[in-house]
Amino acid sequence: MAIELSEKTIKHEFIEKINELSGQDIFKCFQCGTCGGACPMSAQMETLPRKIMRMLQLGMAERISESETGWECASCHSCSVNCPRGIDLARVMEAVRLMVLRKNINKIEPSRLPAETIRELPQIALVSGFRKMTS
Ligand code: SF4
Ligand code: SF4
Repeated sequence: MAIELSEKTIKHEFIEKINELSGQDIFKCFQCGTCGGACPMSAQMETLPRKIMRMLQLGMAERISESETGWECASCHSCSVNCPRGIDLARVMEAVRLMVLRKNINKIEPSRLPAETIRELPQIALVSGFRKMTS
């Protein structure tokens, strides 16, 4: 019983933190899937935005940490402008990234990027990308 309560507390704190960092109420999501339909990156995503929202509502912190979806999100805000519940999902994705980065987990290791990719990409895009997506 004590373990169950402790797990509940951890889940509750995780959900509260995501809401605080994003400034959104994740429980407003009613799982319509419009966000995924509007997302230009959904074909590349390991987990669709709708499913990420459900996992957040369930407090699945570990599963969220393992997911690559936050790093596949291009922060384009298409989901945010199309959500019928007015949820700024791009900000939720940002909160998901922050939670992972605060654990010093890096999904992108700049030194492992192929030299050809680094040559081709605009430096300003690389620097701003690394600022946003690495700890
Ligand atoms: S569009 Fe909004 S309400 Fe619909 S699944 Fe996505 S976040 Fe939830
Ligand atoms: S902000 Fe991210 S999740 Fe939302 S539509 Fe753009 S790429 Fe997809």
